[in-house]
Order: sequence, then C-alpha cells, then structure tokens
Amino acid sequence: MTKKYNTKNYDYLVVGAGPFGMIFAYEAAKRGKKSLIVEKRPYIGGNMHTHTEHGITVHDFGAHIFHTDNKEVWDYIRQFADFNGFQNQVVANYKGTLYNLPFNMNTFYQMWGTKTPDEAHAKIEEQKNAALKDLGDRQPRNLEEQAISLIGTDIYNKLIKGYTEKQWGRKATELPAFIIKRLPVRFIYDNNYFNHRYQGIPVGGYTQIFERMLEQSNGLVDVLTDTDFFDDKETLLSEFPRMLYTGMIDQFFDYKFGELEYRSLRFEHEVIDSDNYQGNSVINYTDAETPYTRVMEWKHFDGLADEGKTIITKEYPQDWDRSKEAYYPVNNDENTRIYKAYAKEARDNHPEIIFGGRLGKYRYFDMDQVFNDAFNTVRQEFDINQDFNFAHDEVK
Ligand code: FAD
Ligand code: UDP
Repeated sequence: MTKKYNTKNYDYLVVGAGPFGMIFAYEAAKRGKKSLIVEKRPYIGGNMHTHTEHGITVHDFGAHIFHTDNKEVWDYIRQFADFNGFQNQVVANYKGTLYNLPFNMNTFYQMWGTKTPDEAHAKIEEQKNAALKDLGDRQPRNLEEQAISLIGTDIYNKLIKGYTEKQWGRKATELPAFIIKRLPVRFIYDNNYFNHRYQGIPVGGYTQIFERMLEQSNGLVDVLTDTDFFDDKETLLSEFPRMLYTGMIDQFFDYKFGELEYRSLRFEHEVIDSDNYQGNSVINYTDAETPYTRVMEWKHFDGLADEGKTIITKEYPQDWDRSKEAYYPVNNDENTRIYKAYAKEARDNHPEIIFGGRLGKYRYFDMDQVFNDAFNTVRQEFDINQDFNFAHDEVK
C-alpha cells in the first residue's frame, strides 16, 4: 500500500526508530533539519523499548543494562532520564547447581573450592594444557578454544558450551572467539557482569528517552509507526534526497550478494502473583536441554512493582528466517565476507544513504557503541570537527 508522504518538507528520511535513528533525527533537528522516521513496529526505541505493567518496567526485547566507559555517551543519555546504579549480577543454573557469573573468584570457589587467585590460576592452567595441547603461541581459532584457554574445561563444559550452542544454534567450534571475550574473567571476588565504569538503568525505563527526544525536537521530527520501508521502497528512494537506514543491509540490496545470517529470539512474558519469583534480576540456564537461555525478573532491576505482582520473561533463542526479527548478527568469516560486499556496494553506488546501527552495519553493537557511532555520523554529516558537548547544544 502506497502512503502519501509530504516529502518536500523533509531533509532526511530515517528508516528505524531505534537509538541510532532517533539520535540522528534529534541531532539533525538541533541543527534546523527536518526528518521523517518510518518505523515498522508500533512504537519507538527499537530493541531498547520498555513498557510499564503492574508498576513494573518491562524491557520488551531482553534485559538492557547501560554500561560504558565513554563519558560523552554517559553524559548524553542522562540528559533524558535519571539512572539508578544498577549492576547486573547474573546467577547461572547448571542442572540445579548455582554459580556466580561472570567468571570470578566466587565461580572458581563454587566450581573447585579454590580460595586464592594462585589456586584458581593453577587449576585453569592445568585444564587448558590438557585440553589444548597444540595451542602454543597461536591465537585461539574459535569460541571453544578461546573459552578453554581463558577459564579451563570445567567452566567451559558447565557454563559456556550448552548456553552458547543453544544461543547461536551452532557448535562453539564454529563461532568466532570474540563473542566470549564480552564476558569478564576476574581473579577477585566480584560478580559485576560488566567491567565498565558507568552502569545503570533509567528509572522508569528507556522509552521516555526517545519520547523526550521527540518533545525536544521542536516539531522537526515526525514518526510514522507501523510503516515498513520496503512497502514503499522505490517511492521513498526517489523522493528523499538523503537517507539514514538502520534496517538489515542485505535486505536493502534485496539479498543480491546472498543472505547474511542472524540469530533470532522469542520472549515469553508472564505475570505472576508473587512478590519475588527467583530472587535475582537474571538467571541463566546454561545446560543444553533447557530451551531458554535466561529468565529475567523485572522488579529486581529497579525495585518497583505493585504489591503481590511480579513479571518474568523467558528468552528462547531461535533460528532466524525472513519472517522473524533479526536480533544478532553472526559475525563469522563467511558473513563478514558477504557484509563487505554490501558495504562496498553502499559506498560505491549509494553515497546519499548512511547505513548505521546493529543491522545496518551488521555489528554486535551494545547500546553505548550505537550511541557513539551515531555521534560520529552526526559529526561527519554536519561537519563538526571538534569534540563538543551535546548537552549544551540548543535546539534551534
Ligand atoms: P534497533 O534497536 O534494532 O532499532 C532498529 C529499528 O529499525 C527497529 O525498531 C526496527 O523495527 C526498525 N526497522 C528495521 N527495518 C525496518 C524497515 N524495513 N522499515 C521500518 N523500520 C525498520 N546493549 C547494551 O548495551 N546492553 C544490554 O544489556 C543489551 N542487551 C541486549 C539484549 C538483547 C536480547 C538484544 C537483542 C540486544 C541487547 N543490547 C544490549 C543491544 C541493543 O539492543 C542494541 O545495541 C541497540 O538496540 C541497537 O540500536 P539500533 O538503532 O542499531 O537498532
Ligand atoms: N555466555 C555463556 N554462558 C552464559 C552467558 C554467556 O556461554 O551464562 C556466552 C554466550 O556465547 C553469549 C556470550 O557469552 O552469546 C556473550 O554473553 P552476553 O551475556 O554478553 O550476551 P548478550 O547479552 O549479548 O546476548
């Protein structure tokens, strides 16, 4: 169905109302430029979207904890919401036995009874040397080798292999090593899931951040929800001189160099008549048999809930196909090769289009990286050379 767009009034078409698209449109508005955002979902915020139910802030697309070392990003996001000091302290359940994550002295004690860093190091070295006899000085070639070389075979077998293989739908030996390096390995007693200096959750959820951006854009950002760019691609391309695209890059080019692989998820939300269902914000189920990877209990992220109610979400990994949401890029060698062909095509033949965000750049970006990348795009687009403080820029 072709919609009527009053395209003459706009400087930019933005595809996707996730953080990348929203920041770009907001910053363009500050510089007097008008954007139309088309968003296929019924609401804004992309995968950061949250809603409130029974006084509880529910993250609709899995737990989103903001964590960064980038002060510019941290100062920027806090213009739009107050943040609590939430630190994620995940518990792993392996066949009924509980372990602390990420991998730290508590985990090593629970796994082996080791009490000092030297004892833990010795245990890991012993298991690594037995399992990876040919590693020598070369870099680990895949996620399994990387994990065993970092924390040994016991932790790999109980806390990583099952979780990873159901999360990604393939063997850990067929996955890139970098994925496991997202998790800290620490030789101190510290269960903080992230190493970053600034961490937290916005009190009241993330959606308010994007609502404030719209409110503060002086009418220079319009959003059409429930609108898929591909329902009207040719019209939109011909009518908008400049565009920012945050959807799947292979879909944009009609998959002409092949389909990129993604991983999808299914979320099952449940309202329970209880004050406290699992006693923690996130519990990971690390065996291969449990069909979900993790269970979130939302009230434990900020302590807010109506009395007697709690809401949990089970996160089920699933294969991706074109009818499902693409949540994770699968950044192995073959997909990287295909992505590079699309990126080259974009550079050579579509200089009028900016490709950005997790799907537009096919990168396993966290929120802070998306914010940072959006800032860089804004700097480039508006020829801003010096570092500037977004917080003090006035909307024109
Ligand atoms: P998105 O948020 O995906 O937004 C893209 C938007 O574009 C979507 O709203 C989509 O509907 C829209 N769109 C796509 N195609 C079209 C089209 N054809 N037409 C119209 N609209 C379209 N990061 C963290 O920092 N901390 C966390 O704890 C964390 N947890 C996560 C947990 C899960 C389960 C997932 C999946 C991600 C998590 N992230 C986390 C990552 C975070 O969600 C992303 O970094 C961020 O949302 C990416 O922003 P984006 O704007 O690139 O894309
Ligand atoms: N992982 C694991 N066991 C866990 C948690 C994570 O093996 O209990 C691995 C898994 O491969 C996962 C990766 O570590 O994909 C990164 O974990 P993270 O929690 O950062 O995943 P995300 O929140 O991005 O899904």
